Amino acid sequence: MTSNANAAWLARAREVLVGGVNSPVRAFGGVGGDPILMVRGRGSRMWDVDGREYIDYIGSWGPLILGHGDPEARAALIAAAEAGTSFGATSPLEIEMAEMVRSFFPGCERVRMVNSGTEATMSAIRLARGFTGRDRVLKFEGCYHGHGDPFLVKAGSGLATLGISDSRGVPAATAAATLVAPFNALEAVETIFARHGSEIAGVIVEPVAGNMGTVAPEPGFLEGLRRLCTAHGALLIFDEVMTGFRVAPGGAQERFGVTPDLTTLGKIIGGGLPVGAYGGRREIMDQVSPSGPVYQAGTLSGNPLAMATGLATLRRLREPGFYERLEAVSARLARGLLRAAADLGVPAVLNRVGSMMTLFFTGEPVRDFASAKRSDTARFAAFFHGLLRRGVHLPPSQFEALFVSAAHSEADIEATIAAARGALGDLRQSG
Ligand SMILES: *Cc1c(COP(=O)(O)O)cnc(C)c1O
Repeated sequence: MTSNANAAWLARAREVLVGGVNSPVRAFGGVGGDPILMVRGRGSRMWDVDGREYIDYIGSWGPLILGHGDPEARAALIAAAEAGTSFGATSPLEIEMAEMVRSFFPGCERVRMVNSGTEATMSAIRLARGFTGRDRVLKFEGCYHGHGDPFLVKAGSGLATLGISDSRGVPAATAAATLVAPFNALEAVETIFARHGSEIAGVIVEPVAGNMGTVAPEPGFLEGLRRLCTAHGALLIFDEVMTGFRVAPGGAQERFGVTPDLTTLGKIIGGGLPVGAYGGRREIMDQVSPSGPVYQAGTLSGNPLAMATGLATLRRLREPGFYERLEAVSARLARGLLRAAADLGVPAVLNRVGSMMTLFFTGEPVRDFASAKRSDTARFAAFFHGLLRRGVHLPPSQFEALFVSAAHSEADIEATIAAARGALGDLRQSG
């Protein structure tokens, strides 16, 4: 790359920021090469420190369903900033937000706002433990629920093996309380419940997995989790931080018709500002302080900037035809990418649920973390850089979803498909 400003900024970043970034995936570890620093976004586009323009499919990792700088969200943010950035007292915006969440997610009878998706999932797990009086949590291999201690665990050596942490610094006892099953493997979950059912406080799942790349739940999987949780008195927690307002207005629970006991939200709900939320049935949520004995608090929780931007964003989603158009544009991109791979003889699988999708470089279906990991990540890296050179910025990892926003035009999609043909052609030439 012939960039000047980018190299200079990166050198400074690597001096003062850990690994040059504030969140690991931004470091391009999954694709190699130098990350590109961004200074501006508008609509479907963003611009780097050297003035180069990209069609953006990172979408800030999910929040930007309207694209960058939506006029209404911007106006709401500016108005909120002028009125006061934080009061340390309840503002009407928080009440409107909770009502708004409930209108999208009827299962969220009561809502608590927090400041990130991580905070939402940590709080939901504490609540599940407090409500049930049990300690164990079941999660799925390849599902990401933020960086809370109980979630940094993948599968051990066998089905009902107790968890071992992926991260240093997690107490062994915390990791051991986490049970892990493969995604889409209902029999494995049944086996774990048969053995540990009376110890499990909750099952937490990305109802559409996005953090191993996009993987849809197979028919019966979410329904089976619902049945097992109910039968064993465990809470079912849908982590809809990514899927909420994304795969349907009311998230995966609306799309697949399965209602969890607790829902965690983030990303789109803040319209690009730092925010998260959790909600659920009244008698469960009322266990949270100050109504109940499960403590959870936050200095900036429900802050007016995030509430106003989030509300303006969510209102846009209610516009007639919003999701239909997003679906049509996303389907067009998916078809174009698959056809390009087929024409150029590159084995690939495209998993898509609504406006989130992943092109996996593998010849076999991807239905869980093990099959996702059999993808050719070197090929993905070459594809990624081929697109980047052509002005298209994918998320820099094979194991991430790309996001289409309402700001992506059909022309953007056609330009992206043309760029993908070029990048796939390069792949073939280099073997
Ligand atoms: C992004 C994400 C989180 C973490 O949210 P942060 O705001 O990054 O803390 C949790 N769960 C899922 C499913 C996510 O995609």
